[in-house]
Amino acid sequence: MILEMRDVAAGYGGVSALRGVTLHVDEGETVALVGANGAGKSTLLKSISGLVRPTAGTIAFAGASLAAVRAPARVALGIAHVPEGRDVFGSLSVRENLDLGAYALGRRRSARELDALRDAVLERFPVLRDRLERSAAELSGGQQQMLAIGRGLMAKPRLLLLDEPSLGLAPSLVDQIFAIVRDLRELGVTVLIAEQNARMTLAIADRGYVLENGAVVAADTGRALLASPQIVERYLGIG
Ligand code: ATP
Repeated sequence: MILEMRDVAAGYGGVSALRGVTLHVDEGETVALVGANGAGKSTLLKSISGLVRPTAGTIAFAGASLAAVRAPARVALGIAHVPEGRDVFGSLSVRENLDLGAYALGRRRSARELDALRDAVLERFPVLRDRLERSAAELSGGQQQMLAIGRGLMAKPRLLLLDEPSLGLAPSLVDQIFAIVRDLRELGVTVLIAEQNARMTLAIADRGYVLENGAVVAADTGRALLASPQIVERYLGIG
């Protein structure tokens, strides 16, 4: 088990955002976190990467508690967070944005190491290779999302947290992004992905958790969740 959360609660001031969340992610899995806007998906990912501090419960990564580990050190442990809104650095080039992902690891890499790492990532994103020296601001929304995911991969993460990668993208780009996420499993990357697009996310996930008002209300394989009329009608707002 790479990630284990037990009875985690978190909030903002007096507002409770997570209540008693228990979940796990095994190595090599793609796990989906679905639920309506405001259900707590982003807060859950932030509690793992260290941007939100839980008020109760425990989070363990590779068997060790994260309680005393601050956010930058969590990156070094292998937790990469691709936040909602693909916040790439517009004035930097595509190459510089990618390389920042590797620097987040906390140790310097040689130019040769960096080139090899970048080449491996660019194999997944040929469209970025063609635009390597352009500024990130010149990329389309879908390309910026690819860049954000690519930057996450540059950290060689043991766990990649993806927050709403399909948000605001045109349907054809949404398909492309989901194809990329699906392919990550073949690369051996372990993924926890939060999405409002429940149907597509559960279709590519090994397992999924449904969040409602900060609590896990259902957990099963992606396929079983999608096959349950109650789940689909009650929580997913689809079908
Ligand atoms: P979204 O898709 O909109 O990001 P979500 O499922 O990711 O939704 P969260 O963003 O985790 O949900 O929000 C969970 C709850 O916490 C919501 O009630 C939200 O209003 C509240 N919340 C989120 N961020 C903050 C913040 N910075 N300050 C106060 N309340 C917040």
